Amino acid sequence: MADEHFKVIIIGTGPAGLTAGIYTARADLKPLILEGDQPGGQLTITTEVENYPGFAKGIMGPELMHECREQAKRFGADCRYITATGVDFSSGPPFNVQTTKGNFTANAVIVASGARALLLGLESESKLMGHGVSACATCDGFFFRGKKIAVVGGGDSAVEEATFLTKFADKVTIIHRRDELRASKIMQKRAFDNPKVDFMWNTVVTEVLGDHQTGVHALKVKDTKDGTEREEPFEGLFLAIGHRPNTEFLDGQLKLDENGYIITHDGMKTSVKGVFACGDVQDHVYRQAITAAGSGCMAAIDAERFLESGE
Ligand code: NAP
Repeated sequence: MADEHFKVIIIGTGPAGLTAGIYTARADLKPLILEGDQPGGQLTITTEVENYPGFAKGIMGPELMHECREQAKRFGADCRYITATGVDFSSGPPFNVQTTKGNFTANAVIVASGARALLLGLESESKLMGHGVSACATCDGFFFRGKKIAVVGGGDSAVEEATFLTKFADKVTIIHRRDELRASKIMQKRAFDNPKVDFMWNTVVTEVLGDHQTGVHALKVKDTKDGTEREEPFEGLFLAIGHRPNTEFLDGQLKLDENGYIITHDGMKTSVKGVFACGDVQDHVYRQAITAAGSGCMAAIDAERFLESGE
């Protein structure tokens, strides 16, 4: 079967990919949007989004993504529930994108495959994600006003998020599997000096206790030194054990930084002419829906200009 050809293929459907979809569709480029394994991206595992401009009363993450998808489709974007498994950028354009449903080619590609927060891998953790468990303090901290919460991790993210969360929570406990933080000294000092932050050393979380109606009420934790388990009362759990950009399928064909994020320059250009990147797959600093959407718009405009230039 001949490969299906498109002017633009967009890989990923978080706010970055869908915004790139809206813009390229409105430019009459009839983009193919590959939805990926987690259609809608990380916002689909959050509940209410209160900081996305234009929604004074807030909007649920999945609903926001549904609206963005409908908006892209309205202008002619072709959204398909398939996942990119590989690419060949060596001799394009046209570039080749391999997927779970065959091969596609395009004159320009926008990579918006996002990043994923690393999780502990507990069944109860996934069940309560968005119901007391979160991997984004900036997104969800506000919902924990006056509560006693835990942050798992010992790096800069854990310490930064714990410090940030003290704006809302009464008490924030950093649960770390060792007795020494990995975070930079200055960030450590900030947490040590904060009276609302305390520490649970040599401890791992083994189960999150709660339900969808009332949220989290306790954590089952284990002492890594003597192996004993106990229950500790907490009303929320934040995971801060790192993120991974979803770049494995690129198989080293775009330049990445030392943490695996795509390097962009001059707008949203990558190391391959005609291939652009936007959203969390190239941003480990801001990681917000609105910044991802903004960069998706930029990538679409860059792709449109590239196609117009006929390079
Ligand atoms: P990180 O530095 O990789 O730290 C991850 C932490 O999570 C480590 O303390 C690790 O424990 C712990 N961890 C990993 N897997 C675990 C598991 N399964 N169970 C329990 N604990 C686990 O990640 P990060 O804090 O997200 O930082 C990533 C990068 O961004 C770093 O280079 C960091 O400096 C940077 N960053 C900078 C800032 C800033 O400067 N403002 C803010 C945030 C992040 P161990 O220590 O035992 O390995």
